[in-house]
Amino acid sequence: MDITDLARGIAKGERRALARGITLVESSREDHRVLAAELLAAIPQGREALRIGLSGTPGVGKSTFIESFGMMLTGQGLRVAVLAVDPSSARSGGSILGDKTRMDRLARDGNAFIRPSPSQTHLGGVARRSREAVALCEAAGFDVVLIETVGVGQSETVVAQMSDVFLLLLAPGGGDELQGVKRGIMEMADLIVVNKADGDLKPAAMRTRADYAGALRLMRKRPQDPEGYPCATTVSALEENGLAETWDALCELTQWRRENGFWKQTRADQARYWFEDAVKNALLAQLETPHARAALAQLGKAVARGDAEPSAAARDFVQRLGIK
Ligand code: GDP
Repeated sequence: MDITDLARGIAKGERRALARGITLVESSREDHRVLAAELLAAIPQGREALRIGLSGTPGVGKSTFIESFGMMLTGQGLRVAVLAVDPSSARSGGSILGDKTRMDRLARDGNAFIRPSPSQTHLGGVARRSREAVALCEAAGFDVVLIETVGVGQSETVVAQMSDVFLLLLAPGGGDELQGVKRGIMEMADLIVVNKADGDLKPAAMRTRADYAGALRLMRKRPQDPEGYPCATTVSALEENGLAETWDALCELTQWRRENGFWKQTRADQARYWFEDAVKNALLAQLETPHARAALAQLGKAVARGDAEPSAAARDFVQRLGIK
């Protein structure tokens, strides 16, 4: 595989090259990891897309929203990439987020690129590869990268760490109670978007929006937000209403963050987060070498026999690995 050629294709925005590049960064084969690192170093640096993280439980309308929102953006001449971080495929091999057949209008749009969720063995791996896929999309000149995930906790944190803004998509609630959305996820959201504000569901959607707007007002104002943010909007992904207003809110927020230094600061913090994550993963990988496994087994036996104290044996082990 010629990495220089591949990097050049990606830099020109060729979708085939981008797809091949993403396949490469998603691979866990050791030789592919080496090539992936070369590719990430060879692509143009410094191109920036707006990275939008999007979460919501199954059925709230994520695919429908992404399709309508994406079509609106491509209609304005923007190039849009869609990636998915799917924690379900990590556990069961099945995907909550579905497959390529979703969003078929957007998939046929020449200004859009849709990547189905990778099937991986653990979320940590999925996350790193998704972040690298985002980097490839930016290098390919996409203006907007939408990173979709499902509302189950850990995957939101991971997606928020690779996004400039984070959207939480909700469906109209039945009553006036908040929909069991975990506080942590609410605190991550820059924009709460209540979907399905159409037909019979419209009044419920308006109420849900008001409930969440109230809850957001009660939360501590974050330094990275201008007045009025985080905020809640209503949309109908099906009838394509409210999408422009949602986009305007995102643009206003990101513009403010750029002008006030938070955009750069967040990206810098995120780079540090991924660096530390990579260090942890590299250290964990050290445990899998034959040398480490043998030492672990040997010291483990000694501890089990009562010949060594667990903490002392652990220190001994770490020293044997050559890490002080
Ligand atoms: P996902 O699981 O979050 O990706 O949700 P989907 O996009 O697959 O949508 C789930 C269901 O909600 C589908 O039957 C959609 O047609 C429906 N849906 C999505 N958006 C809207 C909307 O704006 N209004 C209404 N009434 N239904 C919607």
